[in-house]
Formats: sequence, C-alpha cells, structure tokens
Amino acid sequence: MSSPARKASQPATAASGVSAQVGASSMPRVAYHLPIFAPGLGDKTPASRVAQTTDPQAPLTDGLKRRIEYLRVSLTDRCNYRCTYCMPEEGVQVLPRPELLNFEELAEVIAALMQVGVRRVRLTGGEPTVRKDLLALVQRLGQLGLTDLAMSTNGERLAELAAPLRQAGLTRLNVSVDTLNPQRFTQVTRRGSLERVLQGLQAARAAGFVHTKLNTVAMQGFNDDELGALCRYAFEHDFTPRFIELMPMSGGALFYPGTFLSAAKIRETLQQEFGPLSPLPSSFSEGDGALPGVGPARYLGVPYRGELRQVGIISAVTEPFCDTCNRVRLSATGQLHGCLAYDDAIDLRSVLRSTVQAPKSGPQQSPAMSDVGASVGSEAPMSVSDLDPLRQQLIDAVRSGLAEKRPAHAFTTQGCGGPTKHMVSIGG
Ligand code: SAM
Ligand code: SF4
Repeated sequence: MSSPARKASQPATAASGVSAQVGASSMPRVAYHLPIFAPGLGDKTPASRVAQTTDPQAPLTDGLKRRIEYLRVSLTDRCNYRCTYCMPEEGVQVLPRPELLNFEELAEVIAALMQVGVRRVRLTGGEPTVRKDLLALVQRLGQLGLTDLAMSTNGERLAELAAPLRQAGLTRLNVSVDTLNPQRFTQVTRRGSLERVLQGLQAARAAGFVHTKLNTVAMQGFNDDELGALCRYAFEHDFTPRFIELMPMSGGALFYPGTFLSAAKIRETLQQEFGPLSPLPSSFSEGDGALPGVGPARYLGVPYRGELRQVGIISAVTEPFCDTCNRVRLSATGQLHGCLAYDDAIDLRSVLRSTVQAPKSGPQQSPAMSDVGASVGSEAPMSVSDLDPLRQQLIDAVRSGLAEKRPAHAFTTQGCGGPTKHMVSIGG
C-alpha cells in the first residue's frame, strides 16, 4: 500500500506550480485509448443546430435537440478539503459572499427552470456542506416540488448533517471516497479524515438515505489496487460504487502524468477481481438520470456472493456520453455552464440582479418566491401570462445560451482539452 510508486510525484506541467500529492512517475505508463478529440468537437455552431422554440413553456432543449432536465447547482466555491486533482494546495481565490447567489436567487433560477421541465437538482460545489444555512436552503428547495433533490459531498460533515438534511427534504446522496486507506485518504484530500467520512456514511444510512453512491476518481498508481476493495465495501453497506475517469480541469495544471486510468482498464481490473461483468438489465434504474445510456455513468453488473451488484463508470474522457447529455450546471456565482469542459457560461446573476433588487439570503420569503410551492409543483398547465416576468427573462437567457451548448467534450488523456477554470469554480 505504501510503495514508493504511491508517494508524491512531480506535477504535470511546469506551469502549474502545484506540488503533486498523487502520482506515479516511477510507474510504467499504460497505453491509453487514443484521445477522443476531433476538429470541430467544441464547435458552437455546427450545421445541425436548430433554432430555439418561441413557445415560452416548451421543454428546455439545446441547439442540438438534447432535452435538458437535470441541473447541478454549486452552493459554494469553497471546500474543507483540497483534493489534489480538484484544487491547488493553496486553495483557490474564493469569492466574496455577495458575489454568490443568495437563497432567493438560487430558488428563483431553479423555479424558472422547473417551468421548462427541469425536475431533478443536485447540490454540489466546492463542498456544499460548508455553505452557511445549508439546512434552511435545502428545506426551501425541498418545497419547490422537485422529483429529486440530491447532494454530492465529501462526507466530512455528514455525521452531524445526514439526519437533519434528510429531514429538510434531501432525497439522495453521493459521497466521494477515493481510497479506504486512511493515510492515502489524507494524502489525496490533503486534510480529510477517512474515519469521519465512514462515520458520515453510516449516519446517512441510519438517517434513511438509500441508493447512496460512492464516487471514486480512479487513478493509476494511487488507488488502482483498491477498486475491488472499494466495491466490496460498497456492496457490503448497500452503496453503489462508481469510478470516475480523471478529467483535465484547471487548464491541465492538476492532471499528473501517469495517473490517468481509463474506463477500459477499470473494467479489466474489476473483471479480474470479480469475474465477467455484464450489461445491466433495464430494471437497474436509479432515478438519477443515471440509467444505462441516459446519464453519465454506465452501469455494469458485478457478480458478488451469488448476486448481481451494480458498479458505475463515468468515462468522460475515453468514452464520452455527450450525445445523451441532459444537464446544465449553475455555478455559485450564477453562471450557467452548458458543459463542464468549457469555460463559457450564461450569466444568470446579471439577469437576476438587473431585474430585481436582490433580496438578502435568509429565511424570509420575497414576493417573487411566494408562489413557488403552489405554481411550480403543480401539474396544472399554466398560461403564458401566468409566468413571472423574472422567470421568463431567466428562461429566455437560458434558451438563447443553450442554443450554443457544445456538441461534445474535448478532454484528452494527456491533460488538455478542458476548461481553464477549476472544478470548484464551475461546480462539480
Ligand atoms: N465536494 C463534493 C465532493 O467531493 O463530492 C462535491 C463537489 S466535487 C467537485 C464533485 C465530484 O467531482 C467528486 O466526486 C470529485 O471527486 C469529482 N472531481 C473533482 N475533480 C475531478 C477531476 N479533475 N476529474 C474527475 N472528477 C473530479
Ligand atoms: Fe473539495 Fe470535492 Fe474538490 Fe475534493 S473534490 S477538493 S472535496 S470540491
């Protein structure tokens, strides 16, 4: 577990100036897939684009007719960890609080998107559990009538927050666990405690959360020898393990050479550990847009103690799923990103703040919010005149921005093709 190959190595780029904590410079390089990159992949205006609808309440689609129904909402660009592949050791320059969307503004954007078909929201960050008044926000969003209000977290604060979050209306959890080795855990997170996260996972079960997913960024020379152990831990505790290919965010500065582990290699490792993997029958549905062929994770059946268990693989780099992309991301500052792999975004904060005096965050309800529970959760069709003018402006801004949503990622296995922004600035 603590072979020299699993100790710190040098960063990928001299430009990064970030000291790597995870790496495998002394490990032989594996032969990866050819990078999925073709000229025009990020082209905003391919010939096949269609004009946006003029029907204000038509379901949200992008310019390539992909239906958008899933929103990831970053609550903060701050984090209590500094995962080596996500944040530089010194952290990122955090934004002053007034630059973040307040609760009213967050709820207003979500309510607007619900009117055009968004029904599932995931709260993320940075680390969402460090956002002040998180429980009040979850409670507020829980009243909007969403089908699913989930959260991605590093689990550090779950031991105390799982039960109140459940009570406040959170429906599901994804928890990041890259390793089951306490030293490695502290190494990769630069400050986290595995014990606390495992306690948090138990608290989540005790609080009644089900279908919890364990997200692991799979890295050659760091945790490639733990994929089986992570699956067994997950299976034994009724969690669903998922392995994520390392994505080159931050202009490639945090993408250390030799650490990329492809989906094919992950499958090969799991197959060696558990035996033949199988495509899952359609009954393995999880209600997160993560159905085989629909969401980012592709699920496989893993034979385990006489049963078929599921494991998800998120292969944005070597086996992209862009043709089925159904999501957009709202950054903590109100920038709506059509794609994680590009810097460009639609500035919804300026729409919110140029239209109304932004109310202070807090438990009070603004007039704009007062009808959210009643109108948005309702199945009754609304007439055009029922639409709040601010919501209509938000929807218009989103539609015109999404007309240019990129056709595909341009991530490569060499650490380029991603955004210059950090993951925490866009929202993971
Ligand atoms: N802090 C929370 C957490 O860690 O779960 C939520 C935000 S985090 C950015 C969301 C997910 O993105 C985590 O599972 C994390 O491991 C993953 N992630 C961060 N940087 C990544 C990268 N460069 N490539 C692949 N996944 C990454
Ligand atoms: Fe924080 Fe999550 Fe990024 Fe780790 S992956 S630094 S926990 S935001």
